[in-house]
Order: sequence, then C-alpha cells, then structure tokens
Amino acid sequence: MTLMNAESYRESLRKRKPLKVWLDGKLLENPIDHPYIKASINTVALTYELAHDPEFKPLMTATSALTGETVNRFCHLHQNTQDLMNKVKMQRLLGQRCGTCFQRCVGMDALNAVFATTFDMDKKLGTTYHERFKSFAKAMEQNDWIVDGAMTDPKGDRGLRPAEQPDKDVYLRVVEQRPDGIVVRGAKAHQTGAVNSHQILVMPTVSMKSDEGEFAVAFSVAADAEGISYIYGRQSCDERKLADDEASDIDSGSSCYGGQEALIVFDDVFVPSENVYMNGETEFAGLLVDRFASYHRQSYGGCKVGKGDVAIGAAASIAELNGVTKASHVKDKIVEMNHLNETLFSCGIACSANGAKMPAGNFLVDPLLANVCKQNVTRLPYEIARLLQDIAGGLMVTLPSARDWLNPETAGILEKYFAGAAGSDTRLRIRMLRLIENLTMGRGAVAYLTESMHGAGSPQAQRILIGRLANVEEKKVYAKALAMNNSLVTVEAAIREGLAKVRGGKKA
Ligand code: SF4
Ligand code: FE
Repeated sequence: MTLMNAESYRESLRKRKPLKVWLDGKLLENPIDHPYIKASINTVALTYELAHDPEFKPLMTATSALTGETVNRFCHLHQNTQDLMNKVKMQRLLGQRCGTCFQRCVGMDALNAVFATTFDMDKKLGTTYHERFKSFAKAMEQNDWIVDGAMTDPKGDRGLRPAEQPDKDVYLRVVEQRPDGIVVRGAKAHQTGAVNSHQILVMPTVSMKSDEGEFAVAFSVAADAEGISYIYGRQSCDERKLADDEASDIDSGSSCYGGQEALIVFDDVFVPSENVYMNGETEFAGLLVDRFASYHRQSYGGCKVGKGDVAIGAAASIAELNGVTKASHVKDKIVEMNHLNETLFSCGIACSANGAKMPAGNFLVDPLLANVCKQNVTRLPYEIARLLQDIAGGLMVTLPSARDWLNPETAGILEKYFAGAAGSDTRLRIRMLRLIENLTMGRGAVAYLTESMHGAGSPQAQRILIGRLANVEEKKVYAKALAMNNSLVTVEAAIREGLAKVRGGKKA
C-alpha cells in the first residue's frame, strides 16, 4: 500500500495498539475520537486525500529515489531543487486548504536530515547506520507513514549542559546499552502531530560535546511502543471545540480542522539496534540538528504562507461584510498583507532553488537563505495578523456567544445590531469574525503565530546561524577594495587577492 487515502489513514490509526494519551487531566479511552484530536486528524488526512486528486497529485506525490514508485511527497527524499520547491508549494497548498498545521512536515524534514547525516557518519567513522536508515526510509514510503520528527528536549536549566542538569532526563538519553539495542529515557516537547503518527523519529536536540555521548542519540520507534505516553497540549480557546453542536462549530471559528502538539514521554523505552541511527557519535549531533533546522525553516516559507492566504482572504471578506472595501487605507492594508506574505514565499522558494546535493544524494536547501526565511517568519505573520485585526474591528473580540445567536429570544436583537454592509449575510459576518479570532488569537494562532516564533527554533537560533553563514569577511574585502583603489585594474586585483586570502582561511 504505497498511497493511503484519508479513510485508510484513519483506519491505520485505529490499528495501532491503544496509545496512552493524557488530556485535561484524564487518560483517554479512545484518543482518536476526542473532539480536539478528531479535528487534528482531519487536517493530517488532507495530506493523504489530496495526493489522490488529479489536480494536486504532481505536487503531493513524487517518484521514490529508493524504489521508483510513486510515493506521498511527505515520505520523499528530495532529489533536486525542483523537489525542494515543490515541497514548499505543497505546504502552501495545504495551508490554504486547512488554515492550520497539517503536522506532517517534521517527519519529512527529519527523514531527509537523518538520511544525509547517517551517510556522512558512516563514511567518516565506519559505522553502519545508513543502510539501517535506508530500510526505515523505504518502510516509511511503502507504508505511507506519518512520522513524528522529534527533536526538542525540555532542556531544564538553559544555563547548564545536558550532563550538568540536576535531572539529566530533561535531555533524552540512553540509559542502558544492550547487545541487541538501547534503552532510552526522557521526553520530547511541543511534538506536532504526535498522537496522529505511526512512528517517531528521534534526533538529538543540540550539538553535543565529546563527553555527552549518552545524549547523542537518534532512533525510530513505533508511536504505540511500550513505555511511550503522551500528554496533550492545550490551545487557546480549545474548549469551544468540546461540545459537538452548532454553537461550538460557530464559536470555534474553524470547526473542521485543528493542529496538535503533545509532550512525548519515553519511560525506559527499548529500541532494537536496527532502529538506532546514532548512538554516541557526538561530532555528528550538531550537523543533524542544523540540517533538520534548515529543512524545517524552509517549511515555514510554505505552510505559513498558505495560512497567510487564508488570513488575507478573511481580511478581504470582512472588509466586504463591513462595507469598507472602497476605503483606500483598507485596500492598501490588503496590498501590504500580500506583499508580506509573498515575501515569505519568496524566501521559501529561494532557499529551495539555491539548494545543493549532499554526499548521500538527497538535496539540502541553502542554509543561510532558509534561516533568513524563518527569521522573517518570526515577524511578518504577526504584522499580517495585526492588519487583519485592524480591518476586522473590535467586534472580533466582543461578539456574543453563538448560543445567543441560536436563542430565539436574542437572535433578532443580534441580527438587528450586528448587521453589516447592506444586503450582506450577518451570519457569515459572525463566522468570519470567529475565523479571524481563531487565526490570530485562538487555536489557529498556535500554527500561524506562536509556532512562527518558536517552531523550528526561536529567533535567536536563526540569528546565530545567519551570523555564522553570512561570510562578512568576504564582504569586507569588497568594501576595502572599493575604498582603497583608484584604478579599475587594481580594484579588481585587490578583490581577487582579498578573496583568495579569506577563502584560504586568513583575514583580508
Ligand atoms: Fe508543517 Fe507548518 Fe505544521 Fe510545521 S507548523 S508541521 S511546517 S504545517
Ligand atoms: Fe513546526
């Protein structure tokens, strides 16, 4: 079964052993039917369903480099820069369709990062991780798995290294080496789509020093493996989704779809050797982290743009419903929102177009441009959201409950006083305002805004990499050569000489 559809995906979740999922203080009996989780499963299911749509198949699928078969792009090893660009376009498409997080990108990004890094590790250290990981990659394609890429450790005291923590478990670690595998303990935080996954692909969270081998670990494990439990994350206004009725649908703002985050706890989980892809090779932990981060920072140049398209559509719609489409400042704000959104898309496309082949054969995005992409993502969606709230007006946060709209005693009053543009549909206006609330302050804001800030690394992480990758020494060569020379011949000679020195490792 290479390409599942939405229905077979839902069935595949039911076939897992019962997951241990805690939500709101209770252990869930049947996690996948909980209203929060059901909505988040609908979102993931889109990634399966659209792969069968003739219109979207070229974006949603790819030809496997491992078997030559058609596979879902989320399970694909990128073979060229077109693949990288198609990934971003696919993410924009899905963001437009659901307006929230479709949860499947972390697995795709982890797949490509671990594939490349195990290859490099084997070459340098003589280990045999790559072939093992290739088997996993094939199984991921063949089973059309959702793989939860798991990187972020809770980290405890940020001022201490992993081994210095009073409780070392705040960094996931190997607690026992056995002849046939390892035993791991710890947790991974903010795990997008964790409960909706088939497999978890764990990676180290930061680069490691040579004496931090116990934390330099990468492996895959089934989501329903013994010793794994999940504690479900809360989202702003999530209780509006609890009751299964029309009022909840209206007040939740976007009732069909939702995102999902959870803390995954690994309580002495045994991982057989064939599923271990790093076990103490500290010098490769940082490379794996950087590659995953680059891919995931590229991802945001697609997914946030799709959600931005929904935000812009909501701005234009509420302007119509409020009767302000002719106001020049409103038109200008919508132009600005588009400008910002397309700037993010440009970054996603640029880092993809400038990607390069790695020794393992798959392609990596341009890391500098991917970090610039994500740095912009930490800012521009907030400005888009600010403009959206500006256009929406204060009613977005003062609207009475949908239950008042559905109550015959108050419905008429609300229809009368909350009517918008002449002839417009007041109920649509209400729903549009709720969607805007969802996107900018509610459940959808997790995927559109807060994740834009902290997902794929907080802003400072990108600034460190931009500082490291931007090659300021070469830029100084250009500036000095232009400032110091007064002939065309010497200026060019100075540039060449300066660049040669810089590239030889010396300062110009
Ligand atoms: Fe994909 Fe965006 Fe969700 Fe991350 S936040 S998993 S990139 S949809
Ligand atoms: Fe993310």
